[in-house]
Amino acid sequence: MSEWVLPEINLDMCDRCGACVEQCPAGAVEMGPEGPFIARPEDCTYCAQCDAICPRGAITVTYEIIWGT
Ligand code: SF4
Ligand code: SF4
Repeated sequence: MSEWVLPEINLDMCDRCGACVEQCPAGAVEMGPEGPFIARPEDCTYCAQCDAICPRGAITVTYEIIWGT
């Protein structure tokens, strides 16, 4: 894969509660001045926990389907 596919954070929906920062098992999320962001993309295991625990539905883990040949 040439690019990382990362959880998307919609800052318009986020209330900056910090749950995603506290509960990411990989420590990949940090809170910045604008809100949470994926500070360490290489550490994200794509476990989708942030998507599951965000009370505002502001994080979405999408999946990219790659067809084999
Ligand atoms: S998908 Fe998992 S590892 Fe990646 S940012 Fe969310 S909680 Fe952390
Ligand atoms: S858990 Fe959701 S609402 Fe809370 S800081 Fe993270 S993205 Fe924002």
